Amino acid sequence: MLLLLAKKKGTASTIFSLSAPFFDVIPYHCMQIDLNGKILRLMQDDITRLAVDAICNAANAMLAGGGGVDGAIHNAGGPAIMAELNAIRTRDGGCSTGSAVATTAGLLPARFVFHAVGPVYNDGQHGEPRLLASCYRTCLQLAEERMVKRISFPSISTGVYGYPLADAAPIALQAVRDHLTQERCVVEEVTFVLFDERTRLAYERALRGEVAGGWK
Ligand code: ADP
Repeated sequence: MLLLLAKKKGTASTIFSLSAPFFDVIPYHCMQIDLNGKILRLMQDDITRLAVDAICNAANAMLAGGGGVDGAIHNAGGPAIMAELNAIRTRDGGCSTGSAVATTAGLLPARFVFHAVGPVYNDGQHGEPRLLASCYRTCLQLAEERMVKRISFPSISTGVYGYPLADAAPIALQAVRDHLTQERCVVEEVTFVLFDERTRLAYERALRGEVAGGWK
């Protein structure tokens, strides 16, 4: 196994795994940036496979379970997660768009799942950017309250909810960056676990653009 890691503080770095077929837990593609000692990382994988303290889910307002990453999280995590969501739904009626609720993680390699409800994309003029950023911010706030150090995110709203990747990626990265650069912050490591190449490339492009544009 040969690992090449080019790392430079404050800039994006790329990890290349040259013989990853033998070590499938090591991703082929991983890019990360060091923000004053906090890590923002992009990788292409299935979010249910990565061990972290909290996994974020792209849920729906009824917290009812669905396809995409939501289905994958419930399948891998088992029924305990839905049982908790059922109780939250009974109590609160669901979760509003732009917000998130926390459950334990069942069989997943995490302590918590934060179920965020992203906006359905209409035309970008109906509060979608604010609501999308709010999903990430709310999850990071839930993380702070629970002393979560390592958290993973999927690309919220860019699947069935139709948010254009090129618009969603910078919003997601900026929300995380704003959080990680706060003076007091428990979260130390944020990983975007991106399911397909198209999504990973969009986030990589956005991260390079943000770094070049002023994340110095
Ligand atoms: P939304 O309804 O918020 O758009 P989706 O689940 O349809 O949510 O899609 C959000 C993103 O999650 C998409 O990029 C999709 O490819 C991705 N995704 C689907 N399954 C997984 C998984 N197991 N791990 C990480 N990301 C996933």
